[in-house]
Amino acid sequence: MPNRPFETDPNARDYQPIVTLPPEWLPCDGCGLALPIPEQVGPPRELTSYERVLPPDAPPLVGRPRPRPFFTTMSRCTDCSARSEQAAALVKQYPRAIATSEFSFHGSHAVEQLERVLAGLAIIEQAPTIKNARAMHLLMETMLPATSAILWSSRFAPVALRDAKSKTGTARPWAHLRADDATRMRQAYATWLRRRTEVPRPHPHPDGSGCYICGIGEYVAETTGAAWQPVRLNPGVLGGQWGAPVVEAHVCADCRAVHADIGAWGPTLLDKLVLQAAGVQPLADAHDLQPNGVQAWGTTGRKRPNPTPFEHVNLAQLADDVRSGAFL
Ligand SMILES: [Zn+2]
Ligand SMILES: [Zn+2]
Repeated sequence: MPNRPFETDPNARDYQPIVTLPPEWLPCDGCGLALPIPEQVGPPRELTSYERVLPPDAPPLVGRPRPRPFFTTMSRCTDCSARSEQAAALVKQYPRAIATSEFSFHGSHAVEQLERVLAGLAIIEQAPTIKNARAMHLLMETMLPATSAILWSSRFAPVALRDAKSKTGTARPWAHLRADDATRMRQAYATWLRRRTEVPRPHPHPDGSGCYICGIGEYVAETTGAAWQPVRLNPGVLGGQWGAPVVEAHVCADCRAVHADIGAWGPTLLDKLVLQAAGVQPLADAHDLQPNGVQAWGTTGRKRPNPTPFEHVNLAQLADDVRSGAFL
Protein backbone atom coordinates (compact mmCIF):
# COMPACT_ATOMS: atom_id res chain seq x y z
CA MET A 1 0.00 0.00 0.00
CA PRO A 2 2.06 2.92 -1.26
CA ASN A 3 1.68 6.57 -0.27
CA ARG A 4 -0.15 6.26 3.02
CA PRO A 5 0.14 9.25 5.36
CA PHE A 6 -0.24 6.86 8.32
CA GLU A 7 1.49 3.77 9.65
CA THR A 8 0.46 0.55 7.84
CA ASP A 9 2.82 -1.87 9.58
CA PRO A 10 0.82 -3.59 12.34
CA ASN A 11 4.03 -4.18 14.29
CA ALA A 12 5.02 -0.53 14.36
CA ARG A 13 4.62 1.35 17.60
CA ASP A 14 2.33 4.11 16.26
CA TYR A 15 0.14 1.75 14.20
CA GLN A 16 -3.59 2.42 14.55
CA PRO A 17 -6.01 -0.06 12.90
CA ILE A 18 -8.64 2.65 12.34
CA VAL A 19 -7.43 5.99 10.97
CA THR A 20 -8.96 9.39 10.22
CA LEU A 21 -9.23 9.83 6.48
CA PRO A 22 -7.31 12.60 4.68
CA PRO A 23 -9.61 14.91 2.64
CA GLU A 24 -11.18 13.18 -0.39
CA TRP A 25 -10.21 9.71 0.80
CA LEU A 26 -13.04 7.19 1.27
CA PRO A 27 -13.20 3.86 3.08
CA CYS A 28 -13.88 0.61 1.19
CA ASP A 29 -17.37 -0.52 2.24
CA GLY A 30 -16.08 -4.11 2.44
CA CYS A 31 -12.64 -4.25 4.03
CA GLY A 32 -12.66 -0.67 5.35
CA LEU A 33 -9.34 0.21 3.71
CA ALA A 34 -8.70 3.96 3.47
CA LEU A 35 -8.60 4.75 -0.24
CA PRO A 36 -7.11 7.75 -2.04
CA ILE A 37 -9.09 8.81 -5.15
CA PRO A 38 -7.07 6.73 -7.68
CA GLU A 39 -7.85 3.54 -5.69
CA GLN A 40 -11.61 4.15 -5.42
CA VAL A 41 -13.49 1.80 -7.76
CA GLY A 42 -16.96 2.79 -8.97
CA PRO A 43 -19.16 5.66 -7.81
CA PRO A 44 -19.18 6.56 -4.09
CA ARG A 45 -22.29 5.59 -2.17
CA GLU A 46 -23.83 7.17 0.86
CA LEU A 47 -24.97 5.20 3.89
CA THR A 48 -27.48 6.47 6.40
CA SER A 49 -26.64 5.45 9.94
CA TYR A 50 -28.42 5.96 13.21
CA GLU A 51 -26.38 6.64 16.28
CA ARG A 52 -26.82 4.17 19.02
CA VAL A 53 -27.65 6.74 21.65
CA LEU A 54 -28.97 4.48 24.35
CA PRO A 55 -26.63 3.25 27.05
CA PRO A 56 -27.44 -0.23 28.41
CA ASP A 57 -29.00 1.34 31.54
CA ALA A 58 -31.24 3.67 29.51
CA PRO A 59 -34.20 5.33 31.22
CA PRO A 60 -37.74 4.34 30.21
CA LEU A 61 -39.06 5.20 26.77
CA VAL A 62 -40.38 8.66 27.59
CA GLY A 63 -37.75 11.37 27.45
CA ARG A 64 -35.18 9.31 25.61
CA PRO A 65 -33.21 11.25 23.03
CA ARG A 66 -34.19 10.33 19.46
CA PRO A 67 -31.50 8.58 17.45
CA ARG A 68 -29.95 11.06 15.05
CA PRO A 69 -29.05 10.00 11.53
CA PHE A 70 -25.60 10.66 10.15
CA PHE A 71 -24.19 10.01 6.72
CA THR A 72 -21.07 8.24 5.62
CA THR A 73 -19.73 8.04 2.10
CA MET A 74 -17.99 4.84 1.09
CA SER A 75 -16.26 3.47 -1.96
CA ARG A 76 -14.79 0.11 -2.80
CA CYS A 77 -11.26 -1.19 -3.24
CA THR A 78 -10.01 -3.26 -6.18
CA ASP A 79 -9.98 -6.52 -4.18
CA CYS A 80 -13.53 -6.12 -2.87
CA SER A 81 -14.80 -5.19 -6.36
CA ALA A 82 -13.19 -8.28 -7.83
CA ARG A 83 -14.81 -10.38 -5.10
CA SER A 84 -18.17 -8.89 -5.95
CA GLU A 85 -17.75 -9.99 -9.58
CA GLN A 86 -16.68 -13.44 -8.46
CA ALA A 87 -19.80 -13.65 -6.29
CA ALA A 88 -22.04 -12.59 -9.18
CA ALA A 89 -20.54 -15.30 -11.40
CA LEU A 90 -21.07 -17.97 -8.72
CA VAL A 91 -24.68 -16.88 -8.20
CA LYS A 92 -25.23 -17.34 -11.93
CA GLN A 93 -23.60 -20.76 -11.81
CA TYR A 94 -25.49 -21.97 -8.70
CA PRO A 95 -28.69 -19.90 -8.57
CA ARG A 96 -30.51 -22.24 -6.20
CA ALA A 97 -27.61 -22.97 -3.89
CA ILE A 98 -27.28 -19.47 -2.42
CA ALA A 99 -29.38 -20.48 0.53
CA THR A 100 -29.27 -21.72 4.06
CA SER A 101 -31.74 -24.12 5.60
CA GLU A 102 -33.82 -21.10 6.60
CA PHE A 103 -33.44 -18.56 3.81
CA SER A 104 -32.90 -18.60 0.09
CA PHE A 105 -31.40 -15.55 -1.53
CA HIS A 106 -31.98 -14.23 -5.02
CA GLY A 107 -30.57 -11.62 -7.40
CA SER A 108 -28.43 -8.84 -5.95
CA HIS A 109 -29.31 -9.99 -2.43
CA ALA A 110 -27.73 -13.37 -3.20
CA VAL A 111 -24.60 -11.66 -4.55
CA GLU A 112 -24.28 -9.54 -1.38
CA GLN A 113 -24.63 -12.56 0.91
CA LEU A 114 -22.10 -14.57 -1.07
CA GLU A 115 -19.69 -11.63 -1.20
CA ARG A 116 -19.55 -11.70 2.58
CA VAL A 117 -18.84 -15.41 2.62
CA LEU A 118 -16.07 -15.02 0.02
CA ALA A 119 -14.63 -12.11 2.02
CA GLY A 120 -14.63 -14.34 5.10
CA LEU A 121 -12.68 -16.99 3.20
CA ALA A 122 -10.17 -14.37 2.01
CA ILE A 123 -9.68 -13.09 5.56
CA ILE A 124 -8.80 -16.55 6.86
CA GLU A 125 -6.67 -17.08 3.72
CA GLN A 126 -8.67 -19.90 2.22
CA ALA A 127 -9.66 -20.16 -1.42
CA PRO A 128 -11.56 -23.41 -1.85
CA THR A 129 -12.77 -24.45 -5.29
CA ILE A 130 -16.53 -24.85 -5.27
CA LYS A 131 -17.14 -27.95 -7.35
CA ASN A 132 -20.91 -28.36 -7.16
CA ALA A 133 -24.17 -26.87 -5.91
CA ARG A 134 -24.12 -28.97 -2.76
CA ALA A 135 -20.70 -27.63 -1.75
CA MET A 136 -21.94 -24.10 -2.47
CA HIS A 137 -25.06 -24.55 -0.38
CA LEU A 138 -23.05 -26.02 2.50
CA LEU A 139 -20.62 -23.12 2.30
CA MET A 140 -23.49 -20.64 2.70
CA GLU A 141 -24.98 -22.66 5.51
CA THR A 142 -21.75 -22.83 7.52
CA MET A 143 -19.97 -19.55 6.69
CA LEU A 144 -22.81 -17.04 6.48
CA PRO A 145 -23.57 -16.87 10.22
CA ALA A 146 -19.87 -16.32 10.95
CA THR A 147 -19.57 -13.45 8.47
CA SER A 148 -22.78 -11.56 9.23
CA ALA A 149 -21.04 -8.45 10.62
CA ILE A 150 -17.58 -8.44 9.08
CA LEU A 151 -18.01 -5.66 6.51
CA TRP A 152 -16.90 -2.12 7.26
CA SER A 153 -20.37 -0.97 6.16
CA SER A 154 -22.03 -3.28 8.70
CA ARG A 155 -20.43 -1.17 11.46
CA PHE A 156 -22.52 1.76 10.20
CA ALA A 157 -25.85 0.48 9.00
CA PRO A 158 -28.60 0.22 9.90
CA VAL A 159 -27.51 1.18 13.42
CA ALA A 160 -24.00 2.43 13.96
CA LEU A 161 -21.67 0.85 16.45
CA ARG A 162 -20.70 3.20 19.23
CA ASP A 163 -17.19 3.68 17.84
CA ALA A 164 -18.22 3.92 14.18
CA LYS A 165 -17.22 7.37 12.95
CA SER A 166 -17.68 8.77 9.46
CA LYS A 167 -14.48 9.92 7.72
CA THR A 168 -12.56 6.97 9.12
CA GLY A 169 -11.18 3.87 7.46
CA THR A 170 -8.73 1.06 8.16
CA ALA A 171 -4.97 1.26 7.79
CA ARG A 172 -4.93 -2.29 6.37
CA PRO A 173 -7.77 -4.34 4.85
CA TRP A 174 -10.06 -5.79 7.56
CA ALA A 175 -8.05 -4.19 10.37
CA HIS A 176 -11.34 -3.42 12.16
CA LEU A 177 -12.01 -7.11 12.86
CA ARG A 178 -11.15 -8.70 16.16
CA ALA A 179 -9.24 -11.92 16.68
CA ASP A 180 -12.40 -13.79 17.65
CA ASP A 181 -14.08 -12.80 14.35
CA ALA A 182 -11.36 -14.75 12.54
CA THR A 183 -11.60 -17.63 15.00
CA ARG A 184 -15.33 -17.93 14.34
CA MET A 185 -14.77 -17.97 10.59
CA ARG A 186 -11.98 -20.57 10.88
CA GLN A 187 -14.27 -22.81 12.92
CA ALA A 188 -17.06 -22.39 10.38
CA TYR A 189 -14.66 -23.23 7.56
CA ALA A 190 -13.52 -26.37 9.38
CA THR A 191 -17.17 -27.38 9.72
CA TRP A 192 -17.64 -26.87 5.98
CA LEU A 193 -14.59 -29.03 5.17
CA ARG A 194 -15.92 -31.80 7.37
CA ARG A 195 -19.53 -31.68 6.17
CA ARG A 196 -18.51 -31.44 2.52
CA THR A 197 -16.94 -34.89 2.67
CA GLU A 198 -19.81 -36.52 4.52
CA VAL A 199 -21.57 -38.95 2.24
CA PRO A 200 -25.33 -38.47 1.83
CA ARG A 201 -27.41 -41.42 3.07
CA PRO A 202 -31.03 -41.94 4.07
CA HIS A 203 -31.94 -40.61 7.51
CA PRO A 204 -35.17 -41.86 9.05
CA HIS A 205 -37.55 -39.36 10.65
CA PRO A 206 -36.27 -38.71 14.23
CA ASP A 207 -39.28 -40.38 15.89
CA GLY A 208 -39.94 -42.97 13.21
CA SER A 209 -43.02 -41.28 11.76
CA GLY A 210 -43.20 -39.05 8.65
CA CYS A 211 -42.61 -35.44 7.62
CA TYR A 212 -45.59 -33.57 9.11
CA ILE A 213 -46.20 -31.92 5.73
CA CYS A 214 -45.48 -34.46 2.95
CA GLY A 215 -45.36 -37.63 5.04
CA ILE A 216 -42.12 -39.18 3.80
CA GLY A 217 -40.35 -41.34 6.38
CA GLU A 218 -36.73 -40.93 5.36
CA TYR A 219 -34.66 -38.30 3.65
CA VAL A 220 -31.26 -38.56 1.94
CA ALA A 221 -28.73 -36.04 3.29
CA GLU A 222 -25.27 -35.89 4.86
CA THR A 223 -26.53 -35.52 8.40
CA THR A 224 -29.81 -36.04 10.16
CA GLY A 225 -29.81 -32.32 10.95
CA ALA A 226 -29.69 -31.52 7.23
CA ALA A 227 -32.56 -33.95 6.59
CA TRP A 228 -34.97 -33.06 9.40
CA GLN A 229 -35.76 -29.89 11.25
CA PRO A 230 -38.09 -29.35 14.19
CA VAL A 231 -40.74 -26.67 13.61
CA ARG A 232 -43.84 -25.37 15.37
CA LEU A 233 -46.95 -25.79 13.25
CA ASN A 234 -50.57 -24.79 13.45
CA PRO A 235 -52.65 -27.83 12.34
CA GLY A 236 -55.68 -25.58 11.71
CA VAL A 237 -54.08 -23.99 8.63
CA LEU A 238 -52.66 -27.28 7.37
CA GLY A 239 -55.88 -29.20 6.87
CA GLY A 240 -56.34 -30.17 10.50
CA GLN A 241 -59.03 -29.18 12.92
CA TRP A 242 -59.52 -25.44 13.29
CA GLY A 243 -58.33 -24.26 16.67
CA ALA A 244 -56.23 -27.37 17.36
CA PRO A 245 -53.21 -26.54 19.53
CA VAL A 246 -49.82 -25.79 17.96
CA VAL A 247 -47.69 -28.90 17.50
CA GLU A 248 -43.93 -29.43 17.47
CA ALA A 249 -43.05 -31.68 14.56
CA HIS A 250 -40.20 -32.53 12.22
CA VAL A 251 -40.30 -31.62 8.55
CA CYS A 252 -38.07 -32.79 5.69
CA ALA A 253 -35.57 -30.56 3.88
CA ASP A 254 -37.72 -30.41 0.71
CA CYS A 255 -40.73 -29.00 2.54
CA ARG A 256 -38.41 -26.68 4.43
CA ALA A 257 -36.93 -25.38 1.16
CA VAL A 258 -40.38 -24.42 -0.10
CA HIS A 259 -41.06 -22.78 3.24
CA ALA A 260 -37.92 -20.68 2.74
CA ASP A 261 -39.51 -19.33 -0.46
CA ILE A 262 -43.06 -18.91 0.80
CA GLY A 263 -42.45 -17.87 4.38
CA ALA A 264 -45.36 -19.55 6.17
CA TRP A 265 -46.50 -23.06 7.02
CA GLY A 266 -50.01 -22.85 5.55
CA PRO A 267 -52.28 -23.58 2.60
CA THR A 268 -50.09 -21.77 0.01
CA LEU A 269 -47.16 -24.00 0.91
CA LEU A 270 -49.34 -27.14 0.78
CA ASP A 271 -50.72 -26.15 -2.63
CA LYS A 272 -47.28 -25.57 -4.07
CA LEU A 273 -45.85 -28.83 -2.71
CA VAL A 274 -48.79 -30.97 -3.73
CA LEU A 275 -48.80 -29.60 -7.28
CA GLN A 276 -45.07 -30.29 -7.41
CA ALA A 277 -45.68 -33.86 -6.21
CA ALA A 278 -48.42 -34.31 -8.82
CA GLY A 279 -45.99 -33.14 -11.50
CA VAL A 280 -48.16 -30.26 -12.69
CA GLN A 281 -45.98 -27.40 -11.52
CA PRO A 282 -44.61 -26.53 -14.99
CA LEU A 283 -48.07 -25.42 -16.16
CA ALA A 284 -48.06 -21.67 -16.68
CA ASP A 285 -50.94 -20.94 -14.33
CA ALA A 286 -50.20 -23.64 -11.78
CA HIS A 287 -48.78 -20.96 -9.52
CA ASP A 288 -52.26 -19.56 -8.90
CA LEU A 289 -54.02 -22.88 -8.56
CA GLN A 290 -55.54 -23.60 -5.20
CA PRO A 291 -56.48 -27.24 -4.85
CA ASN A 292 -58.45 -26.41 -1.70
CA GLY A 293 -58.49 -28.77 1.22
CA VAL A 294 -55.09 -30.44 0.88
CA GLN A 295 -54.17 -31.98 4.20
CA ALA A 296 -50.68 -32.08 5.65
CA TRP A 297 -49.78 -35.70 6.43
CA GLY A 298 -49.52 -34.93 10.13
CA THR A 299 -53.18 -33.89 10.31
CA THR A 300 -54.50 -37.15 8.77
CA GLY A 301 -53.91 -39.27 11.85
CA ARG A 302 -51.86 -41.78 9.83
CA LYS A 303 -49.05 -43.61 11.56
CA ARG A 304 -47.23 -45.21 8.63
CA PRO A 305 -45.03 -42.74 6.74
CA ASN A 306 -45.51 -42.20 2.99
CA PRO A 307 -43.06 -44.00 0.66
CA THR A 308 -43.24 -40.92 -1.63
CA PRO A 309 -44.32 -37.32 -0.83
CA PHE A 310 -48.08 -36.72 -0.45
CA GLU A 311 -49.11 -40.29 -1.13
CA HIS A 312 -52.07 -39.61 1.21
CA VAL A 313 -53.43 -37.20 -1.43
CA ASN A 314 -54.99 -38.45 -4.66
CA LEU A 315 -52.29 -37.00 -6.88
CA ALA A 316 -53.51 -38.66 -10.09
CA GLN A 317 -56.95 -37.10 -9.62
CA LEU A 318 -55.34 -33.77 -8.86
CA ALA A 319 -53.22 -33.91 -12.04
CA ASP A 320 -56.33 -34.75 -14.10
CA ASP A 321 -58.31 -31.93 -12.48
CA VAL A 322 -55.55 -29.47 -13.28
CA ARG A 323 -55.40 -30.62 -16.91
CA SER A 324 -59.17 -30.41 -17.30
CA GLY A 325 -59.11 -26.89 -15.87
CA ALA A 326 -61.17 -27.73 -12.78
CA PHE A 327 -59.36 -25.07 -10.75
CA LEU A 328 -59.25 -22.33 -13.35
ZN1 LIG B 1 -11.99 -3.52 0.21
ZN1 LIG C 1 -41.73 -33.14 3.68
